[in-house]
Amino acid sequence: VAQKENMMASVKISCSVCLDLLKEPVTVPCGHSYCMSCIETYWDGDDQRGNHSCPQCRKTFFPRPVLEKNIMLAELVEELKRIELRSDLCYSMFFGGTRHLGDNE
Ligand SMILES: [Zn+2]
Ligand SMILES: [Zn+2]
Repeated sequence: VAQKENMMASVKISCSVCLDLLKEPVTVPCGHSYCMSCIETYWDGDDQRGNHSCPQCRKTFFPRPVLEKNIMLAELVEELKRIELRSDLCYSMFFGGTRHLGDNE
């Protein structure tokens, strides 16, 4: 169950441009979140057309919104990284052959 929750959290805080975990997460006015560098690059291409749209829902923004790092999301990403690191450790311990069933430590 914990594994499934991790996956769902990963989806929620992953960037739909690079499909990776958000790096320096920013939230655009429609509520979608991207890495700062991904959306900046995306919008640099949009500059020629004069409007800037959300890669996910296609909502357009004018003028180009000023992006600020989403502190809450950034902390969530860090937290998730820690959780995934921990579960990786559990996995290698489990599959590494030293099984101590019922031993929590
Ligand atoms: Zn990205
Ligand atoms: Zn959007």
